[in-house]
Amino acid sequence: MIRIDLSGQVAVVTGGSSGIGLACAELFLQAGASVAICGRDTERLAQAEAALNARFPGARLLASRCDVLDADDVRAFAQAVQARFGRTDMLINNAGQGRVSTFSNTSDEAWREELDLKYFSVIRPSRAFLPMLSDAASAGNAAIVCVNSLLALQPEPHMVATSSARAGVQNLIKSLAVELAPRRIRVNSILIGIVESGQWRRRYAKEAQPDQSWEDWTAELARKKNIPLGRFGKPEEAAQALFYLATTLSSYTTGSHIDVSGGVARHV
Ligand code: NDP
Repeated sequence: MIRIDLSGQVAVVTGGSSGIGLACAELFLQAGASVAICGRDTERLAQAEAALNARFPGARLLASRCDVLDADDVRAFAQAVQARFGRTDMLINNAGQGRVSTFSNTSDEAWREELDLKYFSVIRPSRAFLPMLSDAASAGNAAIVCVNSLLALQPEPHMVATSSARAGVQNLIKSLAVELAPRRIRVNSILIGIVESGQWRRRYAKEAQPDQSWEDWTAELARKKNIPLGRFGKPEEAAQALFYLATTLSSYTTGSHIDVSGGVARHV
């Protein structure tokens, strides 16, 4: 059995207050790492912080309010991590959300917002944490892992702007991996399909029939969307792939990705 001991290492998870980010924070804490999470909604962040502290008493945890689209917020978040933990070994660029819109109903402003979110949620944290990641690289492991979507390779017309932005970000990640490889910082991504999370809980609350359970609603959607494994993914299943790419388990992997789509990808 492989055991990974991350004590002494620091993982930063943007959007760690819910869904995939929260599941990822749990995995890192379980492995003994210090963890910093951020999000915009202070109440959601406080709830996540309380849940993590209850599950991991004595955990080295920092929860900071930070909008990854705000350069000052991101700089302040990096400074807070530096002040509290003195280092960053692993950065998980996870914060964000999808946009359901077609070419016909996406305005210029919506296009700009979407491109801004997808690109700068990777660019700003990566830039702000780079000095600490560079220092960590000389100690053995430094990694950036981005949560991206299968839409990057397999666009959906009903998510035209998200698909297009996701493809661009996948391209950016490749360049970043090559540029940072000489500094021994690895950069990878996961390409997810549909994962149960806050986003989907909110859609369930809006769209499901009054008497339809979460299980029935997601099973029906999985059928409609022809997901070969027949269900939505769990946040922890995405988190496990992120964990693998962030740690030395994947020490010879950079500029690459793991598919976590339940078999939805059609390409070979
Ligand atoms: P959740 O809504 O459960 O979690 C999203 C997290 O990101 C929350 O903590 C949220 O907190 C935070 N967040 C959103 N925008 C910002 C921002 N500008 N700055 C800082 N934090 C932010 O959704 P998921 O776990 O599903 O989402 C994780 C990532 O996975 C997202 O990037 C999403 O687009 C991507 N993804 C998810 C899919 C799915 O099926 N679940 C499919 C494809 C991609 P707050 O709102 O308080 O800021």
